[in-house]
Amino acid sequence: MSRILLKNAHYFSTDGTAKQGDIAIENDIILSVGESVAEDWTPDRTIECKDKFVIPGFINTHTHAAMGLFRSYADDMLLMDWLQKKIWPIEGKMESDDFYWGTMLGIAEMIQSGTTMFADMYMGMERVAEAVEETGIRAVIARGMAGVAPTAESALVNSEYLYNTYHGAADGRLRVMLGPHAPYTCPPDYLKRVVALSEKLGAEIHIHLAETQGEVNDCLKLYGKTPMALMDEVGLLDRGLKISTFLEKLQSLI
Ligand SMILES: [Zn+2]
Repeated sequence: MSRILLKNAHYFSTDGTAKQGDIAIENDIILSVGESVAEDWTPDRTIECKDKFVIPGFINTHTHAAMGLFRSYADDMLLMDWLQKKIWPIEGKMESDDFYWGTMLGIAEMIQSGTTMFADMYMGMERVAEAVEETGIRAVIARGMAGVAPTAESALVNSEYLYNTYHGAADGRLRVMLGPHAPYTCPPDYLKRVVALSEKLGAEIHIHLAETQGEVNDCLKLYGKTPMALMDEVGLLDRGLKISTFLEKLQSLI
């Protein structure tokens, strides 16, 4: 049992106006906002909030949390130069503990700045899940998959394992999606296999899409379609990728 009282907090009420009052929380339930609680309800902890505004937690909808370890390693570069010359080579040297501690650092920074949920696409996701379980944050994790990489097949196997092992774990704080990296690293045939796996598992998909003008130009040249039209053709947009569906889903998780 945990009882917290946010004393004299500023908040937006349901009529859209800013108000000030006490907020009582018991375990993971908000008992009351701006109303007095029962006389025999005693908080374990009281936080004075007269100079604070209380809001729902922020949601970071796209992270590679462990990449915080590369902060300032390579800045102000074009995306493809940055990936090919700097990031992919150093990522190849990452070890299991790097994924765990890099994610722990990212989670600490997120919690400190009010982010209570993040959608992460990366590698070493078993260690990412461990960090999520230990810290109490919520996360939707996806193993980044590249159809052109030597790990193309093992990434599919690992993604299925992650879904079966972690989807709904940590008291429901952890969810799992499939994470094909991008159209320029995942050819259409590979994406179709991701879609098939997504349908089989009931998993949704997290992908980078139309990040640069160069990607759009290359996609038009190779397939005669924009990245978005290509994703529609291979069936990806029906796997939770439409922004409206994604936002609805996030809302339901808050
Ligand atoms: Zn990204």
